[in-house]
Amino acid sequence: MIVMKFGGTSVANYEAITRMISIVRGKLDEKPVVVVSALSKVTDLLYKISDQAALRNKAEADRLLKQLRERHIGLAKELMPDNAELCAQACDKVNRICDKLDSFVAAVCAVGELSARSKAIIIANGEYLSSNIICCAMNAGGIRTGYMDARTMIITDADYLKGEPDMNAIAEKVPGIVSEAYRDNDAVITQGFVSATADGEPTVLGRGGSDYSASLIGMAVDATRIEIWTDVDGVRTADPRRVQNTRCLDKISFEEAAEMAHFGAKVLHPLTIEPAVKKNIPIYVLNSMNSSGEGTAILQSTFIEDGVKSVSCKENIHVINIFSTKMINTSGFLTKVFEIFSENKVSVDLISTSEANISVTVDSSQNIDAVVGKLSAFADVYVDSDKSQVSVIGKNIINLKGLLEQTFAPVRDCKIYMISQGASYVNISFVVDRTVLNDVVQQIHKYLFEK
Ligand code: ASP
Ligand code: MG
Repeated sequence: MIVMKFGGTSVANYEAITRMISIVRGKLDEKPVVVVSALSKVTDLLYKISDQAALRNKAEADRLLKQLRERHIGLAKELMPDNAELCAQACDKVNRICDKLDSFVAAVCAVGELSARSKAIIIANGEYLSSNIICCAMNAGGIRTGYMDARTMIITDADYLKGEPDMNAIAEKVPGIVSEAYRDNDAVITQGFVSATADGEPTVLGRGGSDYSASLIGMAVDATRIEIWTDVDGVRTADPRRVQNTRCLDKISFEEAAEMAHFGAKVLHPLTIEPAVKKNIPIYVLNSMNSSGEGTAILQSTFIEDGVKSVSCKENIHVINIFSTKMINTSGFLTKVFEIFSENKVSVDLISTSEANISVTVDSSQNIDAVVGKLSAFADVYVDSDKSQVSVIGKNIINLKGLLEQTFAPVRDCKIYMISQGASYVNISFVVDRTVLNDVVQQIHKYLFEK
């Protein structure tokens, strides 16, 4: 069995879905479990709808809801012109999902209050719409396809917008549901991103979470492979929007991929790697617009050569500097500091410490006010904003002769606010001013990859 996940751009419209179906058709002998995202931009549209509902702006919410319905009905008709029955079935599903959503949004408009729980219900509809249409289109194309509701399989806690998966519950439920859906079928399909609590309350896995759904399902069914179909040729040596002359990597290790996903490369959702590692399942990042390409294989470290694989970055971060003389010669200080981060759900990327100072970086999207307030009660705290993090990532990079020189030579004239080298020997990261980021990343890429 293999898992094939198709992202928003790979199911964006008639052409994309037609391509997607032919890719799946080529792999039926491997028993694909297909996982789909919402059509591209649909999740953004659903976020807008929920915002308008919260503002009690019913007219605007209705206008957007109409757009949503028309796009999906139009697509269903375009995909199945010769199969009246399946086309009607798809349109009926779309109308039912949209009718239900319309009333739900009307209710939110009426109370003018949008809880996380209600928002999760609204934004999950993109995947329900896409998966229902694509299921009918696959059947219309002669691939007998069974439909599965992800809410019965992907079980999370009650963090509605970023559910934490319960791996044991998932491993227990998924195989039976998949094999039941496979009965008399050639393939099965479900939604990415969508999940539910054990009591069946709707949750979602967070933005970009469909990759994560795919690897959770892959783990649960012991897939031989997880394929992430997207709109780029694979994982690259750097972000091509920032750096010229980047190269596609043919294979990287799970550890390298985890660091890259976390530190900038937007190709994979950062949590995707973990379930795959558990069962040692290779992940392939592939381009649905160039399906004969090799893509990037993400494999166990033993199959991967030592050396630098990429220079990644995070553009907008804060550095929180914590000073306290109480730290000197005492124990438990770090615990106290990190408990505050943990209680406030602020996640830390890099850490660097000295006798009387701890520096940490956090993504600027996180609210750090409460953390800074609490830390200030017993330490001097300074926050440096408008900073960027640069990470050089590669297996056993500490063994490379001259790596530090090659990494830091291009930045010799820049201020470096913090340096951290991971204990895993997979990355060296440092912090620079946001204004110099592009220049720094380009220069380092040139030094390391363009020789
Ligand atoms: N549709 C969701 C999003 O746009 C999940 C995904 O595509 O991975 O965030
Ligand atoms: Mg994605």
